Amino acid sequence: MATKILSEAGLSVALVEAGGDWDPAKEEDRTQLRFPWESPRRGASTQIRPFGDFDAAIGGWEMPDEPYTRKNGTQFDWFRSRMVGGRTNHWGRISLRFGPDDFKRKSIDGLGDDWPIGYEEVKPYYDKVDKLIGVFGSKEGIHNEPDGLFLPPPKPRLHEMFLMKGAKKMELPIIPSRLSILTKPINKDRGVCFFCRQCNRGCQVYGDFSSSTCLVKPAMKSGQVDLFTHCMVRKVTTNDQGLATGVSYVDKRDMKEYKLKGRTVVLGASACESARILLNSKSKTHPNGLGNSSGMVGRYLHDSTGASRSGIIPDLMGRQRYNEDGVGGMHVYTPWWLDNKKLDFARGYHIEYGGGMNMPSYGFGFSMDVVRKHILDQFGKPSPNGGYGEGLKKDIRAYYGSTVSMSGRGESVPQYDNYCEIDPTVVDKFGIPVLRFHYKWTENEVKQAKHMQDTFEELLHQVGAIPLGTKPGADTQYGLAAPGRIIHEVGTTRMGNDPTTSVLNSNCQAHDCKNLFVVDAGPFVSQADKNPTWTILALAWRTSDFIINEMKSKNI
Ligand SMILES: Cc1cc2nc3c(=O)[nH]c(=O)nc-3n(C[C@H](O)[C@H](O)[C@H](O)COP(=O)(O)OP(=O)(O)OC[C@H]3O[C@@H](n4cnc5c(N)ncnc54)[C@H](O)[C@@H]3O)c2cc1C
Ligand code: SF4
Repeated sequence: MATKILSEAGLSVALVEAGGDWDPAKEEDRTQLRFPWESPRRGASTQIRPFGDFDAAIGGWEMPDEPYTRKNGTQFDWFRSRMVGGRTNHWGRISLRFGPDDFKRKSIDGLGDDWPIGYEEVKPYYDKVDKLIGVFGSKEGIHNEPDGLFLPPPKPRLHEMFLMKGAKKMELPIIPSRLSILTKPINKDRGVCFFCRQCNRGCQVYGDFSSSTCLVKPAMKSGQVDLFTHCMVRKVTTNDQGLATGVSYVDKRDMKEYKLKGRTVVLGASACESARILLNSKSKTHPNGLGNSSGMVGRYLHDSTGASRSGIIPDLMGRQRYNEDGVGGMHVYTPWWLDNKKLDFARGYHIEYGGGMNMPSYGFGFSMDVVRKHILDQFGKPSPNGGYGEGLKKDIRAYYGSTVSMSGRGESVPQYDNYCEIDPTVVDKFGIPVLRFHYKWTENEVKQAKHMQDTFEELLHQVGAIPLGTKPGADTQYGLAAPGRIIHEVGTTRMGNDPTTSVLNSNCQAHDCKNLFVVDAGPFVSQADKNPTWTILALAWRTSDFIINEMKSKNI
């Protein structure tokens, strides 16, 4: 976003990207509308494509050239995508605004910190992002789930209607999703969604949003952008006054180090990677790392909570086949609906739903052994079929399109002791010191996961579904996903008014270095029960406008 706004304002921008260029409209990159048998692994995942062979994300939790470490037996799994547009090539396109309460949590429950800005300051930028990129949804008037400038949402599919019917019985709201996918044309550069349900593969008509196709591509047309691919930034360089002078990077192709000069440096390498670059940018004037006089760089790292459950709806077994494709994501979701004063945990979660008859790929659905006992033969006995061949095909046909899944995605309370720092002994393939993570969930997040599981169980019951697998209990922290697994990590360079407890001011400008800015999720003070990307985009635009004005005024 920063590249687009800054370059279109007439500024020269050098965009430095660790991965390669990638364009789903190019035949060599296209995986959309490919059949499983076109993949040597039938679409099964690989280390650098953990969501399957056809998935757009090239990267993953473990990348051989770019390791990271963990401290004191704690866990944090770090997902990266190395390609222009980063993880937005794959992401779920769930595009939620944070609400007024989300910026002021400490004032509400006394935990964590308030943001130095409120919803009113970000709202004009959410509106601009909605108009520029396009997001569908419905006006609901929910206080902390602000409505946007929505395109029409797609209709719920059959499994979603089953979920809605069940949810009504337990007063659980289910409303149309808010996804950045075009259900109507918004400009000449992008086509409209034709409902192939494969957004995670990237869309060849650019019907869904990714930074690469919808921001970098148009920005390149300005003629103001030089794109440096396969270039891994090591550090921000500074002068004797402590101001940023550019970056140094390793070109992955010749493994040599180069320098780029700039009047202003804007980091958008993702929350943890931007923290890593700052911590690796030590100098005489910034001995603790750049922007780190407070010691806060890397601190307050937090991810969303996550827990899931799935079930099989017997009424949908052996169902009629027809094309029920839709967008590449859920058509409905549940926003947070309860009052924490009546609960034993802080903050809330929303629920994302899955199911229906999408294109099967390797390992789709639930383990056959678990599902088979629910497939009854003509005598009402569990299916004796299975293994392989005809029996397996029969069973798959019986349950295809009858499973539903639900995933809670919730807000954790940021902790000073959850952080990333530089590992003093390990470097990556490019000789750059790597991150070491220290992260533990608190009792609050565990209780939230328990509540998710109770809600899922009740919903499955109300839908008339058979829960698959056993309900996760205390021994597994109620199925609470390991930190990092929900891929919503934020907070490592948080903003604030006090330079001793925050890294950036409310314009995402470093307290310690006035020509240094961060435009990823690092500036987040708290995560909210929403996915973070719409807020990253809105803040990046806001920061870019600030940079333009400061440059015009010759303040930077
Ligand atoms: C499976 C999945 C589903 C998701 N679903 C959603 C969703 O539905 N809604 C939502 O809001 N969010 C979702 N997210 C999260 C979303 O993708 C991220 O919030 C978003 O991409 C973060 O943007 P970013 O620009 O900060 O980081 P990234 O997207 O990670 O981009 C960072 C870029 O910087 C480059 N880079 C990193 N380090 C360096 C370096 N040292 N030198 C040069 N370049 C570097 C990277 O290669 C990359 O291109 C999902 C993520 C995943 C993986
Ligand atoms: S579902 Fe729509 S937006 Fe997504 S990839 Fe298919 S056509 Fe494109």
